[in-house]
Amino acid sequence: MRELALDEWRRLDRDHLWHPYTQMKTAPPPVPVVRGEGVYLYTAEGQRILDGISSWWVNIHGHSHPYLNEALARQAGRLEHVMFAGFTHQPAVDLAERLVRILPAGLERIFYSDNGSTAVEVALKLAMQFWRNRGDGKRRKFVVLDHAYHGDTVGAMSASADSAFTEPFRPMLFPVARAHAPYCYRCPVGLDPASCRIDCLDSLRRILSVEGDSIAGVLVEPMLQAAGGMIVWPAEFLRQVRRLCDQAGALMIADEVLTGFGRTGRMFACEHAGVSPDLICLSKALTGGYLPMSATAATAEIYEAFLSEDRSKTFFHGHSFTANPLACAVSIASLELFEREGSLSRVRTLESLFQARASSLRALECVGEVRILGGMIALELVRDRKSRDAGGYLDRAGPALTRLFLERGLLLRPLGNILYFMPPYVISDAQAHWALDQIEEVLRGWRWPEP
Ligand code: PLP
Repeated sequence: MRELALDEWRRLDRDHLWHPYTQMKTAPPPVPVVRGEGVYLYTAEGQRILDGISSWWVNIHGHSHPYLNEALARQAGRLEHVMFAGFTHQPAVDLAERLVRILPAGLERIFYSDNGSTAVEVALKLAMQFWRNRGDGKRRKFVVLDHAYHGDTVGAMSASADSAFTEPFRPMLFPVARAHAPYCYRCPVGLDPASCRIDCLDSLRRILSVEGDSIAGVLVEPMLQAAGGMIVWPAEFLRQVRRLCDQAGALMIADEVLTGFGRTGRMFACEHAGVSPDLICLSKALTGGYLPMSATAATAEIYEAFLSEDRSKTFFHGHSFTANPLACAVSIASLELFEREGSLSRVRTLESLFQARASSLRALECVGEVRILGGMIALELVRDRKSRDAGGYLDRAGPALTRLFLERGLLLRPLGNILYFMPPYVISDAQAHWALDQIEEVLRGWRWPEP
């Protein structure tokens, strides 16, 4: 690969590239990154930036970790890729066995794909065909939650909440039933924490009691609805979702694309409620944030519905790069790092550090609520604390704040009015305090941009 001078790099980027989510004519040019180490990214202009969002929530052990680098190089020297239909390799087998060992009980079969959206697509398709293969073709509808985000492919968008992300594509999307999510700060049934008995669950209960026998599955982001606003759940809501699915005979599908691999302080978020879903979707931190790969894990019961001499019962879904050996090898090394570096206990320490800083953040005039779960702290910013008025996702506050933090060497990318900090687990206490200091300083006296 040639080394490009910065001017040339910028020109080629401007003339030939199409970056995600950033086509505003007035948007600043993309930040040219040349190197990563630990929690830091280094730019071609010599700036050091603390990666406060784990590069879209994927990086957990830090950038360019020597242990992961070595695992990748070792595997590249042996086998870079082979198709996975009718072939197998040791990294895929080893990873599957390790995943089954740590996943919630009963999830025994691993189906690999390429990213979080396809992990969800696979889960939806598996659920649909499971019922068909079992001769129950009536179960063909999914229930999803308000504020959900499951990805950008067509099935994942259909299952996500209506938003600026899905609006242009509405005619392509399939219908789903939508139930309330436990968004306590903006309670969908108008209660406050003192009087709450998880009454918001009634809408899911109602859907399942009226049309339960036509429901293929209920899809949720357990404990933390991420892109929809970093909404942290009471564990009881999740426990009740499992119970309602059992009563209705519907599959419970957990999208742990973000929450999987320790982010919430447990290896998987379902552990907070002690539940096992029937299908689970994993990606992002699966590879330690190194390569695009995902896995959908299913129960033996689901897998067995596909085992047949009748080929029409086969799951006809596969990607060219299914079970890529490089991605499997680096995922195995990432799981090993959990043991070697005590990653889970580091997340819990981070959660305590966030808790200790919460009250001073809560005191800031523009902060409506502070939400913390594991290695994630989110501030819901409001124009007015009483009315809780706040702009939506497209509000100018987000990009304006991103710029202010970047000037200080901190990468944050608010989701509309939700400013969150979700660093790699290896961040030191001093680095985390520094980042939270920046947040406090910027928000103190901060004014919303005019609409
Ligand atoms: N599911 C959840 C919960 C996510 O947070 C995301 C991405 O942010 C996805 C699915 C989609 O993953 P990807 O961007 O890898 O397609």
